[in-house]
Amino acid sequence: MSDWEDEYEADGVTLSKPLSVQVKSWRPPSPQRARTRDTGAPRAEVDLDGGQWTNWREPTSNVCDGETRRNNSYGRSRGGRGGGCCDGERSRSSPTILNVDNSLVGRIIGRGGAKIRELEESSGASIKINRGVDEAEVMIFGSGDVQLKAKDMIEDLVQGRSFRGPMGSNGNSNTGYQRDSCWSASAVQAVGAAAPARVPIDWIALRENRDKYEAIKWQDLPPLKKDFYIEAESVAAHSAEEVKIWRKENNNIFVDDLVEGEKRTFPNPVCTFEEAFAHYPGIMENIVRVGFQKPTPIQSQAWPVILKGIDLIGIAQTGTGKTLAYLLPGFIHMDEQPLPRDQRNGPGMLVLTPTRELALQIEAECNKYSYKGFKTICIYGGGDRRAQINKVRSGVDIVIATPGRLNDLQMNDLINLRSITYLVLDEADRMLDMGFEPQIMKIILDIRPDRQTVMTSATWPTGVRRLAKSYLKNSMMVYVGTLDLATVNTVHQMVLIVQEEEKKAYVFDFIHRMEPQDKVLIFVGKKIKADDLSSDLCLQGIPVQSMHGDREQCDREEALQDFKDGRVRILVATDLASRGLDVHDITHVFNYDFPRNMEEYVHRVGRTGRAGRSGASVTLVTRDDWKIASELITILERSGQDVPEELVLMAERYEKRQREKEMYAPKGGRGGGRRGGFRGGSDRRF
Ligand code: AMP
Repeated sequence: MSDWEDEYEADGVTLSKPLSVQVKSWRPPSPQRARTRDTGAPRAEVDLDGGQWTNWREPTSNVCDGETRRNNSYGRSRGGRGGGCCDGERSRSSPTILNVDNSLVGRIIGRGGAKIRELEESSGASIKINRGVDEAEVMIFGSGDVQLKAKDMIEDLVQGRSFRGPMGSNGNSNTGYQRDSCWSASAVQAVGAAAPARVPIDWIALRENRDKYEAIKWQDLPPLKKDFYIEAESVAAHSAEEVKIWRKENNNIFVDDLVEGEKRTFPNPVCTFEEAFAHYPGIMENIVRVGFQKPTPIQSQAWPVILKGIDLIGIAQTGTGKTLAYLLPGFIHMDEQPLPRDQRNGPGMLVLTPTRELALQIEAECNKYSYKGFKTICIYGGGDRRAQINKVRSGVDIVIATPGRLNDLQMNDLINLRSITYLVLDEADRMLDMGFEPQIMKIILDIRPDRQTVMTSATWPTGVRRLAKSYLKNSMMVYVGTLDLATVNTVHQMVLIVQEEEKKAYVFDFIHRMEPQDKVLIFVGKKIKADDLSSDLCLQGIPVQSMHGDREQCDREEALQDFKDGRVRILVATDLASRGLDVHDITHVFNYDFPRNMEEYVHRVGRTGRAGRSGASVTLVTRDDWKIASELITILERSGQDVPEELVLMAERYEKRQREKEMYAPKGGRGGGRRGGFRGGSDRRF
C-alpha cells in the first residue's frame, strides 16, 4: 500500500478534507429518509421534513423524473451491501413497466414520497418513475414475485384504493396503510359498509376524451409543409459502398433510422453546399459571404434529413458545426410555409438551449446569416424581461430561449407558441443536467404536435433517449464519431499530477510562458475560486476576466466579449463555460481543478481545437482525483494522447484499494452505508 493511501476513505474521499458538495448533501438512508440509487438519472431524495421531492443535484427541481429509490430491504435480505445488492437484484429479472396517466402519478408517490416508500418497503421492489408528455412509465425492479406484488399495489393505488400489503402467515395484512390505522378493524369495516359503492374509473373513456380534446386543441391550425429537399443528381449517384466509405472517412459517421417497423432508406450525404442548397440562392449567398469551404460532416449528413422534413437527432462533438446544421434548413422551412409570415401571428422557429451564453451565441449566428429579414429574439433569465416582452409583441420569427424564462412568458400568456412549426432542442443533455425537463415538457405541450423537431446532444445517455422518444416522431439519427465519450483529437492533452498547494504556481508559470497570440480558458471548480484566482492575476497586473453563475448577466456578457475580442487573453471560468461556447481562437484550456465528471472534461477540452484548428489542454490532477484516473486514461488513450506513468500508478492504487475494501468489508449487515455499500458511476467497474 502506498504511503498516502491511508489518508483516504472509500471512494477516494480524503479524510482530512471536507467532503465535496454532493457528498455533503447526501444523507444516509434512515426511517425518515430514502435515497436514490445511482442510475445515471438525476438523483433525488424524499425529504419528509419539507414534504416535497428534492433533487439534490439540482436543488431547484421538485419534479420526480427518473428517480429510483434504493431498497433497503434488498440489502438486508441478501445480508449484504445496499446498492450492490439492488443492482444484482435488478439484473435477475427485467422490470415490469406500467403506464400511468400523469395526473395519477401523485397517488403512487404520495405526500413527500410517503406512499412510494411504503410501497417499496412492503413489496420489496424498487420503483422508478419516468414522466412522459401524457403518461409516466412506472418501472418495477426486483424478483418476479416482488414485481408482481408491487404491481398489484400500484394498481390499487391508481384506482384509489389503499394497497393491500403482503399478507402475514395468519392471513392478516401486516404492512400497508391499514397496519398503521388508528381505527379498529370493526370501525373501518363499519365506515366501509356505510360508504357509497366505489364507481370504477372508465379508463377507455378518459383516454378517448383526452384524444378528443387534443384534436379540438389543434383543429384550426394552418397547413404545414416540411419537405423541401431536391436531391442533386451527383448525390443520388453515389453507390451504397461509396457512401459507407465516405461516412467512415468523415469522423466515422454513423446513421440510424429510429422509426418503428420497416426502416427507410437513409439519405446520402451532401459533399458540397450546392448539393444541399442549390435551389435556395439566399442561403448560398450567405455561405459564399462567410467563406466556408465545405460542409462539416454533421452538416453533410444532417441537411438532407432535415430538408426532407424528417425529425433528426444529431449527436456530435462540440465545435462541429451543429448550429448551422439545424439553422439553415430551419430558415428554408420558415420561408416556405404555405401561410404568409404576416398571417402567422407568432414565431415559426424555437430553439431551446441550456444557457444564456449559448442562446446569445446562437442569436449571433442567426443574425450573421440573416435570411429574408427574419427577426430573432433571445429570451433568457437575467436579461431585461420587459424588453423581451416588448420585442415579442412587436413580432418575431425566431425565438432562441432558455427554458426557464420562456416558460415564465408562456405561463403568463405573453408569447404564442402555437405558430411554431420548427423546434430545436439544442444541447439536450446539458438541459437535462440543469433540471429543465419540466419546463421543456410544459413548453412543448403548447407546440403543435405535427411540427418538425431537431435535437442535438453531445452525449446519448438514458435521459436524452427518453426525451427523444417523448418529443420526436419517426426520427433519424446522425452521430459523428463514437457514442462513447470522446475528446476532440485535434487537442493535445497534457496531464500533470500535482499537490493541491502547487496549483497556483503551475498556473502562474503557464501564464508567464504564454505567447502573445495565445488565449487560455482556465477552468476552476468553484465560483469563489474563479474570483480568487482572477483577483490574484489582476494584482499581478495581468489582464483577466472571469465568468461564473454569481456574476451579473451584463458582467458575464462583457467578460465573454472581452475574451472573444482579445481585450483579455485569459478567462477564468467555472463549468458554466464548458459547453458550447464558441471562441475560435482559444489556444489552451487549463483545467486548474479537475471537473466533476468525464463528460465535463470532454466538453472543457472541446473549447479549444475548434473548427479544424489545433489546440492544447493542461490538466492538473491531485490525489483527491484518484478515482477518475482510470476513466481519464481511457479517454486519453482513445484520442491517442500520452498517458503519464503517475496517472497509471494512481489508477492502479485506487483499484487495489477498492479490491481490498471489497475483500475485507464486513459480511452481512448494511456494509457501512454509502461508503461501504452504495456505489455507482465509475466505481462500479472495480
Ligand atoms: P458549432 O458546433 O455550431 O458551435 O460551430 C462551431 C463553429 O464552426 C462556428 O463558429 C461556426 O461558424 C463554424 N462553422 C460552421 N460550419 C462550418 C463549416 N462548414 N466550415 C467551417 N466552419 C464552420
